[in-house]
Amino acid sequence: MTYVLRTTHGNDCKLSPTKVVCVGRNYAEHARELNNEVPTEPLLFIKPTTALVDFESTIVLAEHQHALHYETELAILIGSPLKNADTERVERAIAGVALALDLTYRDLQTELKTAGHPWEKAKAFDGSCPITPFGSPTLVNLEQVQFCLTVTGKLQQSGDSSKMITPILPLIAYVSRHFSLCAGDIVLTGTPAGVGQLTAGDKLHVEMPKLVSATTSVY
Ligand code: ZN
Repeated sequence: MTYVLRTTHGNDCKLSPTKVVCVGRNYAEHARELNNEVPTEPLLFIKPTTALVDFESTIVLAEHQHALHYETELAILIGSPLKNADTERVERAIAGVALALDLTYRDLQTELKTAGHPWEKAKAFDGSCPITPFGSPTLVNLEQVQFCLTVTGKLQQSGDSSKMITPILPLIAYVSRHFSLCAGDIVLTGTPAGVGQLTAGDKLHVEMPKLVSATTSVY
């Protein structure tokens, strides 16, 4: 499947992702709100490209077999291949910054975790990664990017990359030691505290100053 990456400058990007690599529990406050231990090393999992959908496409709850929870995350677009990369190479390879939702079937994830099973069924389903167009990384300081999610006008999540347990550049370097990153791949960098369940009628608005502003509805 080819997902056409969109950019905020209007021109669609020619890169096609081969995968979305995600990190769990990269903000201590979020790990604590779900009663999880704060990890000593990044906890990685992958979403397939069939998880990617345009952020503004409607979320239809009836299409899902479980309760849907949102996690708002900073998404990084990789512009050139990375394998065993150091942070300097990672910095040169970053081609875009966006916001994404790591949609999760929390009840199923808890069930799978308790049984010691992989949690892909709860996190890698079709449409589990709504994503905004990518803005240029030159417009932000990656060490201090702020972003937020409001649900029907109420602030629910507010993130700041300076609070990540593993910051963006070392995180992507770490990922590249385990999985080769190809041009077009996307790395989701973890969610701050404030995750919750979606209900019909919710309006989700995500924002990253200067770069991203997008809205979607839940039915
Ligand atoms: Zn997540």
